[in-house]
Amino acid sequence: MLEKVEGFNMEKVIEEFEEVTKDAGRVQIETLRKILEDNSEAEYLQNLGLNGRTDPQSFKNCVPLVTHKELEPYINRMIDGDLSSILTSKPITTMSLSSGTTQGKPKFVPWNDELFETTVQIYKTSFAFRNKEFPITSGKALSFIYSSKQFKTKGGLAAGTATTNVFRNSRYTVAMQALKSQCCSPEEVIFGPDFHQSLYCHLLCGLIFCDEVQFVSSTFAHSIVHSFRTFEQVWEDLVADIRDGVLSERVTVPSLRNAMSKILKSDPNLANIIQTKIMGLSNWYGLIQELFPNAKYVYGIMTGSMEPYLKKLRHYAGDLPLLTSDYGSSEGWIATNVNPTLPPESALYTVLPQIGYFEFIPQNKGDSDFIDVEPEPVGLTQVKVGQEYEIVITTPAGLYRYRLGDVVKVMGFYNSSPQLKFVRRSSLLLTINIDKNTEKDLQLAVEEASKFLAEEKLEVVDYTSYVDVSKDPGHYVIVWEISGEASEEVLSECCNCLDKSFVDAGYTSSRKVNCIGALELRVVRHGTFQKILEHYIGLGSAVSQFKTPRCVGSNNAKVLQILNENVVNKYISSAFNN
Ligand code: AMP
Repeated sequence: MLEKVEGFNMEKVIEEFEEVTKDAGRVQIETLRKILEDNSEAEYLQNLGLNGRTDPQSFKNCVPLVTHKELEPYINRMIDGDLSSILTSKPITTMSLSSGTTQGKPKFVPWNDELFETTVQIYKTSFAFRNKEFPITSGKALSFIYSSKQFKTKGGLAAGTATTNVFRNSRYTVAMQALKSQCCSPEEVIFGPDFHQSLYCHLLCGLIFCDEVQFVSSTFAHSIVHSFRTFEQVWEDLVADIRDGVLSERVTVPSLRNAMSKILKSDPNLANIIQTKIMGLSNWYGLIQELFPNAKYVYGIMTGSMEPYLKKLRHYAGDLPLLTSDYGSSEGWIATNVNPTLPPESALYTVLPQIGYFEFIPQNKGDSDFIDVEPEPVGLTQVKVGQEYEIVITTPAGLYRYRLGDVVKVMGFYNSSPQLKFVRRSSLLLTINIDKNTEKDLQLAVEEASKFLAEEKLEVVDYTSYVDVSKDPGHYVIVWEISGEASEEVLSECCNCLDKSFVDAGYTSSRKVNCIGALELRVVRHGTFQKILEHYIGLGSAVSQFKTPRCVGSNNAKVLQILNENVVNKYISSAFNN
């Protein structure tokens, strides 16, 4: 793989992509065969009676659909140091921690070299298509990437977030150089033990190399927005550092100070230029474009739970296009963005049929959406345009028919491989009785209600929700952090609007007869969501992989505690009062 990356040839990558997508059905059969042959020694597969068969039908007949829960006993044995062939023939020696924002705590999932190969494969493919439309010459990327703490499990396995496992791979830097996407910050910044200090140094490196920065990125859009919100707070220190050539005392980690001392030189001229640019901005509009005159785009995952950050990101980006990256998870990659000119709201992800074996569980309309009937998955090339499906993945790292928990909609085909729109996590979010509201419903309600804030030039910085059933009837609690102070009147209107914006019939009918109580809007102190982020970092998550939990389960005591401790105001909806 290394050789291929070094000799990166965009035309060839596109040609290969054309070939595999034209023959997606056959490539899927081949991919499944290879995964099953490579792992024929695995105890898990041996116990299922495949007896050497590798065809999709036998696979479907013998291997059950599973979630993480069913695999946990196997994964726990590995974590405890059992190095026999459990899920894969070649024992797993590294674990990834998924961000775990849905369940409240990170999950361990197996990681191996094959997953690194698929990572490079997907990066190469999307880069080839992206570079056709938005060519970048040699230069640097301002990438807000962070390695999480890597630690050893009880049994001695290395564990960290999936992105950490990618960054720590010795071939990562070489791959990024070939993709002209080398991070402008030194490695010490990416691997720094304190993310506040690393973020400060990333910003400083971006400014030092501002003319060379070709694009600005992070794994998820949240992290880019978070970085520039921080920039608003610390820009004067950054400019002073460049003027004097002395790193701010806020950076105390010796490895960071040492690495930064090699690139930070006194440059009053650059400091003046940056200061003049910032002073010329109106409400930080176009900050990214202004600071990095040669940047071509802003890049990162911008769909799904990242959509709420798009407005702010566009504000910072000015005229620079926002390009969403690829679609995957700690468990494995799925699809790539080969239509980079589409705005994130209409982004399509094309499945790479050679990186895993994919099945799709049709989602029925209406209530049955959420009923646990025995699902009947279809293969990659049997999906129908316009239909929604939950994705099931089989990966080269020991997950077989694994329900990922994501719902996607098939929008069309690229040759014979489906193009997907990410819809939502499949788990139900807000429900008390017959009501069912997903993260997407919540997002739409928040968008609608925050229009009242926009009139006051305020915005929702971040939000989450939970159901409060401590009193009868239970009710929805929506929690907002706001960019400034809004009047009681406006917030009451927002609260009523939220209540009215959940249009699901189960909700509205229950509200009318008071089987669900009045919705409550809680406004929390500035910095509350930062505390939540820090809580997840403490659990081993990485900032660049962080996703705000949009619904906090009753078992997520710590996050509920943070929210409760920081409430500044509560509003109760009167939208359904007669
Ligand atoms: P993690 O748990 O950190 O591995 O995150 C994986 C999850 O992030 C996926 O299962 C999706 O729910 C979400 N995700 C990843 N890529 C995308 C994308 N391109 N668009 C929307 N959601 C995504």
